[in-house]
Amino acid sequence: MKYTDLLNITKEYGNPVYVYDAEKIKFQFNRLSNAFKTVKNLKLNYAAKALSNLTILRLMNDLGSGLDTVSIQEVKLGLLAGFKPEEIIYTPNGVSLEEIEEAAALGVRINIDNLSVLEQFGSKHPDIPVCIRINPHVMAGGNSNISVGHIDSKFGISIHQIPHLLRIVELTQMTINGIHMHTGSDILDIEVFLYASEILFETAKNFRELDFIDFGSGFKVPYKEGDIETNIEELGEKLSSRFNEFCEEYGKELTLAFEPGKFLVSEAGYFLAKVNVVKQTTSTVFASVDSGFNHLIRPMLYGANHQIFNISNPVGKERYYSVVGYICETDTFANNRRINEISEGDVLCFKNAGAYCFSMASNYNSRYRPAEVLWYEGKSVLIRERESFDDLIRNQIDVKDLFEAKNQKASIK
Ligand SMILES: *Cc1c(COP(=O)(O)O)cnc(C)c1O
Repeated sequence: MKYTDLLNITKEYGNPVYVYDAEKIKFQFNRLSNAFKTVKNLKLNYAAKALSNLTILRLMNDLGSGLDTVSIQEVKLGLLAGFKPEEIIYTPNGVSLEEIEEAAALGVRINIDNLSVLEQFGSKHPDIPVCIRINPHVMAGGNSNISVGHIDSKFGISIHQIPHLLRIVELTQMTINGIHMHTGSDILDIEVFLYASEILFETAKNFRELDFIDFGSGFKVPYKEGDIETNIEELGEKLSSRFNEFCEEYGKELTLAFEPGKFLVSEAGYFLAKVNVVKQTTSTVFASVDSGFNHLIRPMLYGANHQIFNISNPVGKERYYSVVGYICETDTFANNRRINEISEGDVLCFKNAGAYCFSMASNYNSRYRPAEVLWYEGKSVLIRERESFDDLIRNQIDVKDLFEAKNQKASIK
């Protein structure tokens, strides 16, 4: 997308606004598919939580993706967006048995990540096959917030509990149709990932009725210059040949599944915000935009580095700025960044704003969530309206007479 296209979008729809480039999403989808082209049955299930706009879900469906969901609400969004139930996998953590039963009744694939629910579900519904989420206890990436495969992680069933798991399966007579892992958000070292895969293959041998093995996600995309990204092509080549080998050993052409979120949508997203104030203090020049962590929380929550460009003055002299929001709380997007000279009224563009940006937005400070626009075949399509005051008060119950009654009594006295 060109900067002029982005600027025109702010003129048409106002700001702040999220923009998603459909072409880039398609490119990433095809790139991942191609990396595994030697696997006969490959299934990519887009992780809805990264960006759950209905039109984005429809685009994924159109590309041939399945859907990975983590809540019953995401399941319902997927069905609404046209996914067939069998194209949806439900991979919750820590939800009630009732919610899992509700998802099962809708016909979606079920992925269970603890023995307690496995036993209860299997006893009540031995005829509904389920996938199991395994924790291989392998650290992928360095940040303990986003590496979910380690020993103290709340995710998955420990590989050390396989004997117990097998006993539950035998006693309930339930069917295990898939094995799953999702070790973390950053696959940096392919060898570590392949090592975890071996644990999955080893586990898979315990089950004779598998249809698929799901390797989760964690594909890393570059945020700033010099960032390492997962070498998808190398991973594809190595894992594909190992997977095909395993299928021969197992005696069945299984499906190789992935659940990419960030990889598909991160780089396709742009967040556009307008500079309200340029403020010079004794040590810093602040550029305050008409947004904050209510719209894009990743810098404050994860220390994420989103590149910022001044698309109103793309060839201006570069200067140092701290880019902050308008929330009454520290909400720094970037510290001391070199950005083309900023004037009040300029539009800043935040890159990598497709994944975990809008989907984590809130109404904090009673601000509206931004509009969302899809850039599709050279045209902008509004896919979510900016919120309005009505949205802020929609579910509130304004109990006026609660206090009026009290005031009346007080005045009688
Ligand atoms: C969040 C999540 C994903 C997607 O992770 P990305 O890093 O965005 O690709 C996949 N699977 C499960 C179970 C998840 O919770």
